[in-house]
Amino acid sequence: MNNRPLIHPVYASMGATVFEHMSALARETGAINLGQGFPDGPPPPALLDAAARALHEKSNQYPPSVGLLELRQAACDFYARRQGLDLTPGEVCITSGATEAIAAAVLALISEGDEVIVFQPAYDAYAPMVRRAGGVPVSVPLTPPLFRYDPAAIEAVITPQTRALILNDPLNPAGTVASADELAGIARICMEHDLVAICDEVWEGVRFDGIRHRSLMACDGMATRTVKIGSAGKIFGLTGWKIGWMIARGELTAALGHVHQFLTFTTAVPLQWAVAQGLAMDDLLDGIQAGWAASHDRLTAGLKGAGFAVLPNAATWFVCVDLTASGIALSDLEFSERAVREAGVATIPVSALYESDGAPTNLVRLCFTKPDAVLDDAVARLVRWKQAL
Ligand code: GLN
Repeated sequence: MNNRPLIHPVYASMGATVFEHMSALARETGAINLGQGFPDGPPPPALLDAAARALHEKSNQYPPSVGLLELRQAACDFYARRQGLDLTPGEVCITSGATEAIAAAVLALISEGDEVIVFQPAYDAYAPMVRRAGGVPVSVPLTPPLFRYDPAAIEAVITPQTRALILNDPLNPAGTVASADELAGIARICMEHDLVAICDEVWEGVRFDGIRHRSLMACDGMATRTVKIGSAGKIFGLTGWKIGWMIARGELTAALGHVHQFLTFTTAVPLQWAVAQGLAMDDLLDGIQAGWAASHDRLTAGLKGAGFAVLPNAATWFVCVDLTASGIALSDLEFSERAVREAGVATIPVSALYESDGAPTNLVRLCFTKPDAVLDDAVARLVRWKQAL
């Protein structure tokens, strides 16, 4: 007998994610769920029709491991039109959602002892994946309300072991976007220190500032040291479809494909056909965006009108409320745990998305991709509860 634990240490003491936790509480209590990010509205009929047609008319057997050529070409065309990128289908690998792409990129790039810069707040999958790959996540906290990338703060944590950084731009949960200068600063650091950038850009299609998304991949010198990750779930608001992709150049491309072939091999082929068609529909894409922009404005105005302090943002499905500035003397964790039960509104405490010390404890995140009546009801519930606090 040896004393080896049955479970890998990374997972031994892990709980459910904050998103699962809050969604479960919302289900139990019947609360409005503005916690986990997903749209409530009906899916775009054109995409449902495309998926149904594909189920009936196309092959339901394995597509190529890296994904349908038609979808990889559609992704290249989408990025050429909307971001000015010059990509080829051979550089695109279709994954089961962006979370698989992040896992594949980390497994392909990170070896035992490699340090990986993870900006905080961070999507909760990053750090455990880095650890499972044998790497060491190194936190660089970003500071509200602007969550700016400070080159000096990044350079301060770089050591000879630093191998990569994970950049989530636009940033969940803040909804902020890196400026061209910030991207150029990050690119310069990657080149000077020979780092690879794993760019989780799943919110690239959900922007309200009218500025075309800029990928770090497009910065000078970054084309061959970037893994650009995208998500149809976010672009079309179909989070359950789990169609994502990773794009890389040079020797990275084949390595990513090799990890993917032994992680999931490939992903649901009828949905790949449907996403390929959807990515070509600019009117549909613009219409979806406009609807979310209106919901963003409605929740923001409703909250502000009711005396809540809302942080400025430019992207994602989320707004953050500053509890202190709203006159609420609760920590974000207390607020979220109580609001779901007492106000009937589920939110996400932002500190749950920080691993490092120094997390702000006065911010909660609310998802606004919901029908107007649901947003109005949520604001009314929060106001009533706040007054009674
Ligand atoms: N990305 C989603 C969010 O931020 C959550 C995804 C998940 O639940 N794993 O709300």
